[in-house]
Amino acid sequence: MGVNFGTEIKFLKGIGPKRAELFQKELELFTFGDLITHYPYRYEDRTRIYKVSELQGNEEIIQLRGHLKNFKTAGHGRKTRLIADFNDKSGNIELVWFKGVNWVLNKFKVGQEVILFGKPTLYGNKLNIAHPEMELAKNLKSGKDQKLTSLYSSTEKLRRNYLDSRAIENIIDQNLEQIEFDVEILPETLIKKFKLIPRRRALIAIHKPQSFKEAEEARRRLKFEELFLIQLRILFQKSENKEIFPGQIFKKLDKLNTFYREHLPFQLTNAQKKVIKEIRSDLISGYQMNRLLQGDVGSGKTMVAFLCSLMARDNKAQTCIMAPTEILAEQLYNGLSDYSKYLGIRIAKLSGSTKSASRKEILKNLEAGNIDIIIGTHALIEDRVKFKNLGLCVIDEQHRFGVAQRAKLWQKNKSHFPHILVMTATPIPRTLAMTLYGDLDISVIDELPPGRKEIKTVHRTDAHRLSVFKFLKDEIEKGRQIYIVYPLIEESKKLDYKDLMDGFESISRAFPEYPISILHGRMKAADKDYEMQRFVKNETKILVSTTVIEVGVNVPNASVMVIENSEKFGLSQLHQLRGRVGRGAEQSFCILMTGNKVSKDARVRLETMVRTQNGFEIADVDLKLRGPGDLAGTQQSGVLNLKIADLAQDSGILIAARDSVKAILDKDPGLNSTAHRRLKSLMQRKNSNDLDWKLIS
Ligand code: ADP
Ligand code: MG
Repeated sequence: MGVNFGTEIKFLKGIGPKRAELFQKELELFTFGDLITHYPYRYEDRTRIYKVSELQGNEEIIQLRGHLKNFKTAGHGRKTRLIADFNDKSGNIELVWFKGVNWVLNKFKVGQEVILFGKPTLYGNKLNIAHPEMELAKNLKSGKDQKLTSLYSSTEKLRRNYLDSRAIENIIDQNLEQIEFDVEILPETLIKKFKLIPRRRALIAIHKPQSFKEAEEARRRLKFEELFLIQLRILFQKSENKEIFPGQIFKKLDKLNTFYREHLPFQLTNAQKKVIKEIRSDLISGYQMNRLLQGDVGSGKTMVAFLCSLMARDNKAQTCIMAPTEILAEQLYNGLSDYSKYLGIRIAKLSGSTKSASRKEILKNLEAGNIDIIIGTHALIEDRVKFKNLGLCVIDEQHRFGVAQRAKLWQKNKSHFPHILVMTATPIPRTLAMTLYGDLDISVIDELPPGRKEIKTVHRTDAHRLSVFKFLKDEIEKGRQIYIVYPLIEESKKLDYKDLMDGFESISRAFPEYPISILHGRMKAADKDYEMQRFVKNETKILVSTTVIEVGVNVPNASVMVIENSEKFGLSQLHQLRGRVGRGAEQSFCILMTGNKVSKDARVRLETMVRTQNGFEIADVDLKLRGPGDLAGTQQSGVLNLKIADLAQDSGILIAARDSVKAILDKDPGLNSTAHRRLKSLMQRKNSNDLDWKLIS
């Protein structure tokens, strides 16, 4: 019977129904394609056999060949460990097992010759190897046919059923030759251009490389393919969408020109100009825009949104701008009212707290086309909010905005879906954004307006607390205000609440002469608003809060941000919090407080914060520390179940893959040429979300 990528694994050599079930449950391997793409995570060079006498204790995993001399157990109960003496004529070394003692005793006997792999460590002044991987020497092949050994991830349960890395290696080995000869999917031109090895060879070489170099070539080919197919799916679908969704054309510039010539309150930064051009070309393209605008806190996204809404206004279309909270909606409203005060533009605000009489009025005017820009919260998505001609939706701080909600906005203009501009201050590395928001075009404001002072950032421990308090006092005396933030971690809300309250008390004691605000998630929305407003109006000097102070809140007079237990925060959150200060003319400070003990990762986070203020640099470190799976919003996104590529490491390959996809679609948008036949049939399967191998052959 022929085997293809879709063949169930129970039909493969060395598997059978029972093992197939285990592989399915434990590793989600269902088909031959799944098995073949269960790639090794590492290779070991097992050509060299070390001597015990040459070991120093600083080696990585090494290979020894010798005899088991003696077994003894030590300790008792759960602490029992097994110790074996191992001798290779050059010397003795101890092998130690803390787990699986019986398994070892059953499988190996004193006097046997074994080959073992393990990492020697110095314990006291003696060398030992814990949990070596061991095989009887007589069972091993000469080792000449294959230089590198592939290591595969397995699970506890699989290992108990004798399906360890070595067994998996064996099974894959037995089946590799069954890969059909004609499995290439990439166009010949790409293979040539990027010097990729053919697909079949890559699939074999990744499991059985002759050298590290060959393994690397196989990995590069397969990474390219993986990223290429993801980008192709995203961009191919997008080009199809474009045909389906025409957009209003905002050609005329009238108020925009007046504003630009006469009322612009500051020079635009080059970055602002660049993104406005990008957006403008969308708005006159005849297709609906779906664009993500990334820009660090304070980079001036509001002005960009405003200029875009003028383009809409100049073409008799309305703009709606949505913010995640009332406070932010209020700030946007104030900002935009200020920008537009000389232009005769009609701006309104709608939120949950708008009184019903004025709400009625606003809804009526909106539907009649008497309002040009409406700013609000979620209340704007409600069905009763109707427009005469909604042309543009701006969504500020998108991470709280689901795809479904975006879709609802689309429905508010039946003849032409409105253009969509999503703005976020949460920097996402470009490579990740390309994959995550592949359906959106991306613009980046990568420059802050001139004259911004750097926020001086320091790391302090509890031992410095007195001097920190003294510093805060001096700043308040100079007229500044201060944020003091405590972590809020979902699992331990109670504890955090206690931390916050204890902190509030000690701060009240330390600063008896100043009014203090407190803000936390257990307060009613109205109380929160009240406290926030007191701080905004400079009635209180210190705001003690959990992380509920919103992204984007703007109190220019607040110039010091103290973050307590800062080791508990993720990098992007630290960066967001720091962005609350540095908005006024004064020198600003960020003080990262921790206890004395800080984990290695936390130390990297703190050092990064102290070193740089560049949101994208911070996001890159974050991506490296956490991996893409943990970044905000990535969990739901299946596109990140990558089998081999790593978005943090492989950005070069990703960019090459994406550019290739664009070039292909430029020439052959329908993928109709013979060279693209296979790609097209792949793309046409609607559920090819995980690029299912079942479907590829
Ligand atoms: P964000 O990108 O965080 O939304 P804002 O739009 O709130 O930033 O802008 C932050 C501050 O910078 C505002 O006070 C705004 O008026 C000001 N600003 C924006 N662009 C410029 C510029 N090109 N030059 C000077 N100030 C600017
Ligand atoms: Mg903003």
